[in-house]
Amino acid sequence: MDEGWDLLVVGLGPAGAAAAAVAARGGLRVLAIDRKARLGHPAFPNGGEPRIGWISARWLGGSPADVPGTFVDRVDFDRSLVEIAREAGAEISLQTEIVDLVPATHSARISRLATGEEREIRYRAMVAADGPHSAVAESLALRPLEVRQTTQYALPLSRPRRLVQVLFAPGHPDVHAWLQPNGDDRASLAVAHEAGTAADGQRLLDHLHLHLQLLGQVGQKVLQRFGGLMPVGGMRERLVAGNILFAGDAAGLAHPITGMGVPAAVASGEAAANACLAALAGRAPLADYEVAIRQRFGSALAEGASLRERIREDAGQPRRPEQGEWQVAAELPL
Ligand SMILES: Cc1cc2nc3c(=O)[nH]c(=O)nc-3n(C[C@H](O)[C@H](O)[C@H](O)COP(=O)(O)OP(=O)(O)OC[C@H]3O[C@@H](n4cnc5c(N)ncnc54)[C@H](O)[C@@H]3O)c2cc1C
Repeated sequence: MDEGWDLLVVGLGPAGAAAAAVAARGGLRVLAIDRKARLGHPAFPNGGEPRIGWISARWLGGSPADVPGTFVDRVDFDRSLVEIAREAGAEISLQTEIVDLVPATHSARISRLATGEEREIRYRAMVAADGPHSAVAESLALRPLEVRQTTQYALPLSRPRRLVQVLFAPGHPDVHAWLQPNGDDRASLAVAHEAGTAADGQRLLDHLHLHLQLLGQVGQKVLQRFGGLMPVGGMRERLVAGNILFAGDAAGLAHPITGMGVPAAVASGEAAANACLAALAGRAPLADYEVAIRQRFGSALAEGASLRERIREDAGQPRRPEQGEWQVAAELPL
């Protein structure tokens, strides 16, 4: 049995890295693990372009309207956060995953994937930041989050736009799409579809790309191709289970329509670490974390989830002859 840790962080995306950094800075002994060998968001670009992500300032919790957000290179961004955590004193262990979790004794068995070496560790609190398919949630038998696969292109934008256009395809209830401006001359076009239907996702994306080209909204050239999983059902039922706190996508904090989740991941990781600092010092219960996150993100997530439900109902109706193959469902602020 390993000597105990104050905080075990599972997952080193933006949520876990932020949690590890804040907790280590606050003086906790932090072990942070990730199953990946190389950190950075798993988008799959075509060619040598930087893997660009758009960070919406509004989603971060309100900002002046003329500063809607910024571009970041996700690989650099994610790795820099982990370096900040390491410099603050967190122990970072890559290619490491949880094999077994025993919440009653606050212990976990973790395995180094490269060597197969296993060790049992004890922790006083845990931040589960292991993404939308959270293994921690699964081992606690919590209800899984509803997720969708996304297939996306970065495209030239023909004219600047300020709103995110949300679309659906009549007859496809489990599909929605969005065109999101990323600056004045570039946008991402995304189709969210059921996992395991990649070919359908690609076909629908190509069809929508052509449709928007004909409307003069986007250019023909695909600048980048990427994709991945996103939670679409809104916030997890419970964010705190015993001494385990869920953060980021593992907590269902990405926007249910656009999948935008980096700002909420960082904010929730920081909040989870601060809650652990307060609870381990006996100043406040861990449950305060759940209240704070629901207050901050609850209504925006609930609105997104209800728009998705409305799209599901509308798209579930057979297409009427006068309808086009794509319909605009809403225009959302960035
Ligand atoms: C294609 C795509 C494009 C996106 N673009 C944007 C964008 O432009 N702007 C934006 O704000 N958001 C965007 N998002 C959403 C954003 O990427 C996520 O909301 C964000 O990464 C969530 O951070 P996280 O730390 O919660 O989870 P993640 O970034 O998913 O990190 C989870 C980490 O946990 C690790 N892990 C998982 N299971 C285990 C385990 N059992 N043991 C150990 N480690 C484990 C994983 O390896 C991973 O590193 C996009 C998402 C996708 C899929």
